[in-house]
Amino acid sequence: MPDYDYIIAGAGAAGLSLAYHLMLSPLRERRILIIDKDDDDQLNRNWGFWTNQPTLFDRVVHHTWRQIDFVSTSFQRRYGLGDYEYKLMHGANFYNYAVSQLQACPNITFVRGVVQSVEDAEDTARVTVGENAHTGGIVFDSVVRFGGLKQQIAGHPWLRMHFKGWEIKTPTIAFDPRAARLFDFRTPQDGLMRFFYVMPYSECHAFVEYTVFSENVLKQHEYEAAIGAYLTKVLGIQEYDIVSEENGAVPLTDYPFQRRLGQHVMSIGAKGGRVKCSTGYSFLRIQRDSAAIVRSLLQAGHPFDVPADPAFNKWCDSLMLRLMRKEGQAIAPVFAALFRHNPIDRIFRFLDECSSPVETAALIASLPPRRFISPLLSVLSNRQARA
Ligand SMILES: Cc1cc2nc3c(=O)[nH]c(=O)nc-3n(C[C@H](O)[C@H](O)[C@H](O)COP(=O)(O)OP(=O)(O)OC[C@H]3O[C@@H](n4cnc5c(N)ncnc54)[C@H](O)[C@@H]3O)c2cc1C
Repeated sequence: MPDYDYIIAGAGAAGLSLAYHLMLSPLRERRILIIDKDDDDQLNRNWGFWTNQPTLFDRVVHHTWRQIDFVSTSFQRRYGLGDYEYKLMHGANFYNYAVSQLQACPNITFVRGVVQSVEDAEDTARVTVGENAHTGGIVFDSVVRFGGLKQQIAGHPWLRMHFKGWEIKTPTIAFDPRAARLFDFRTPQDGLMRFFYVMPYSECHAFVEYTVFSENVLKQHEYEAAIGAYLTKVLGIQEYDIVSEENGAVPLTDYPFQRRLGQHVMSIGAKGGRVKCSTGYSFLRIQRDSAAIVRSLLQAGHPFDVPADPAFNKWCDSLMLRLMRKEGQAIAPVFAALFRHNPIDRIFRFLDECSSPVETAALIASLPPRRFISPLLSVLSNRQARA
């Protein structure tokens, strides 16, 4: 008999979300072990997402907007979100809330330590942490090592979405807190896709983030110079205090991550391909995946019966990734066309992979076709090369 029914390797967005979904399900009495090396990754990040449904973590959402702005040098518009809302959650609030709820369950154990290996065996899987080994009926694995990932995805295009954000306070009115600015392309593109993201909490308080898509991250002073220039030259803010910072990098690839890593091992989170490779968003995909895993455990007795990503959307993501890699400077006009010609709910549904074929066709028809020809040929030639 295994030591635990389920072992969750990595207590990040995916590990904690899955544990929380299990805790609220009929499987709540199962013995669960959650292992993480530290809480550094979770405490200093913010998760933003749009949704027209409640989530299990709404009580720790920091701020909600019912309007968003799109801004580029050629086009700008404010969108009412209708049924949708854009939400921002602080990683620390998510982490503290999820951990405190889970720690209150006597059948859930937390262990601090570095996961060295996860091995599948005949009846169980074994997780080694330092000197100790733990066995589980199922291991949910979210532990990614970037070096290992680079080797794994060799031959597939990849990029990093990397960013630095400052939470700032200003002595005078500087922001319109009614709308979150999801994209502001008014920053030099210099061959890469770069934009700002402004989440205003009040007229004098906002989170401002500089996001870049490229293989290599920038030096800290380069992010800082870009944010400083945006604040002073674009937004006209001369005085501000930096209250907190966020730094990060999310690898994006169209590599087809396997969900079943063994008889008793399943990948979750980024390791399970839950980061959308064209946008870097994953928080809601992780919530949907956690719900699907619990459903599969209840209905099939194993976790693997989760929906596959729709092939057409995967293909679009792959195309977009290639475009961002090869022609990063061309993305701003593509996004401008996307936002100019489509209602916002159609864009959200497309990105959420639930738009109807007619909506999808309308959205694709609104994009400048010549931008897609070279990456399209590249996708097709790679397919043929692999076939
Ligand atoms: C700074 C930042 C901001 C982001 N913002 C957004 C956003 O606004 N919206 C959105 O949808 N997505 C966002 N993302 C993307 C996405 O939500 C994350 O990548 C998401 O955290 C993926 O979940 P995960 O559980 O797979 O990985 P993580 O959340 O990174 O969790 C992995 C966990 O594994 C642990 N771990 C790693 N190695 C070991 C080991 N050897 N042993 C033990 N533990 C280990 C880590 O400590 C970590 O807690 C952001 C990502 C980052 C980095």
